[in-house]
Amino acid sequence: MYVTISPKRSRREFVRKVKELSGQNLQLCYQCGMCSGNCPAASNMDISPRRIIELARLGLDEEIAGSKTVWTCASCLACAVNCPRGFDLSKVMEAIRLLTLRKNIDHIRPEDISPKQRCELPQIAMVSGLRKFTG
Ligand code: SF4
Ligand code: SF4
Repeated sequence: MYVTISPKRSRREFVRKVKELSGQNLQLCYQCGMCSGNCPAASNMDISPRRIIELARLGLDEEIAGSKTVWTCASCLACAVNCPRGFDLSKVMEAIRLLTLRKNIDHIRPEDISPKQRCELPQIAMVSGLRKFTG
């Protein structure tokens, strides 16, 4: 027997999991944009940090998955420090990364890193990068 999960239910489930994993109340954000304005990685993101929150609370995980933003986030906490609502967006970014990796979708494949890159990259960067980008 097949059980069909309605898109509405799957969106609700995504919102619930993001809240649970991040420990953040997504409704706290009032979309002021301070996080995007203070994010040092924003110029390399295709969806701004502020908009990621809006998409996350609407449960639009496919839009988020199609973007490189959560993988570009450096977990630097500049957004959290500058948020007037005390919202920690870095935890939401991490929660979304975890949910993606749990689907066995690695953002990078270790076997795609060339031997030359392996020799040139600092080991600590390799280890932390693989921890962040693979399941
Ligand atoms: S700074 Fe805080 S309240 Fe403003 S958009 Fe970012 S998360 Fe929302
Ligand atoms: S934690 Fe991520 S989203 Fe927040 S300011 Fe740093 S890079 Fe930007």
